[in-house]
Amino acid sequence: MATMPNDLTPNPLAQYLRTVEIHLKLPSGGEWWEQGSIDMPISGELPILPMSTRDEITLNTPDALMNGQGVVDVIHSCVPCIKNAWFTPAMDVDAILIAIRIASYGEKMEYTSTCPKEDCANTDTFEIDLRQFLDMNIDLSLFKTPIEYKGMQIHLRPITFQTINLQNLDQYEQARMVSVINDSSLSEEQKQTRYYEIFKNMTRYTIGNIAGSISHIVTPDGVTVNNHIHIAEFVENAERKLFKALQEKLTQINEAMPQKRVNNTCSECGNEFEVPFTFDQSNFFEFAS
Ligand SMILES: [Zn+2]
Repeated sequence: MATMPNDLTPNPLAQYLRTVEIHLKLPSGGEWWEQGSIDMPISGELPILPMSTRDEITLNTPDALMNGQGVVDVIHSCVPCIKNAWFTPAMDVDAILIAIRIASYGEKMEYTSTCPKEDCANTDTFEIDLRQFLDMNIDLSLFKTPIEYKGMQIHLRPITFQTINLQNLDQYEQARMVSVINDSSLSEEQKQTRYYEIFKNMTRYTIGNIAGSISHIVTPDGVTVNNHIHIAEFVENAERKLFKALQEKLTQINEAMPQKRVNNTCSECGNEFEVPFTFDQSNFFEFAS
């Protein structure tokens, strides 16, 4: 009697599936990842697989990008050591995506920029080597130095990909609401009421973001508070001075982050200029050839 092939039959093609292309050292060094969200190899370097056909299709679905799920799915597929990409600290997001792009399409990427000279405005397409953005050193000491406040030590953490994603969605939603109100036939007074609601929402989010940047607080008598409901409540109700100190520290940290920049020489007028290298997940993959 002939046996029917079933799902348990080993696929002889399996060995020709994806193989590890590069290894990535995370800018965070694996710190701040929630327990269980990453399996850090002893070498400290994550193996990166190229995108599969399914991954590329996933990233080409606009909705998948909007809610971040597509990006999370692709990270899980290409970086098997990462178990929950929603917990990716902000500083690691770009590095992971760049590594996936290098593993999938190689280290060269076409980049377009326009000459800033007023009477020139020539647009050049040139090639950049993405590896330069993986070799950037991020100084973690600012993050690791707690803020002193009334004898307490406030320890910080980077925001996660999940928070970034919620912020983007929220900004999009607020902008949409503003334009809906603008176009509506509401009276001036009604419009003002609605604007005030949006403003209140945004304030709530700002407080949420700042509170979300706190990992834990150690009180003067040595109690460690890491309950985030307690932390958020504290930030919201504490004096303005604390909020300002937190904001200033976070700005300081942001400004100390190395900027991704590329140099270009205009092919028309010879003007040398620096352009910021920016990508969000959508334009990043659009450049892929
Ligand atoms: Zn020029």
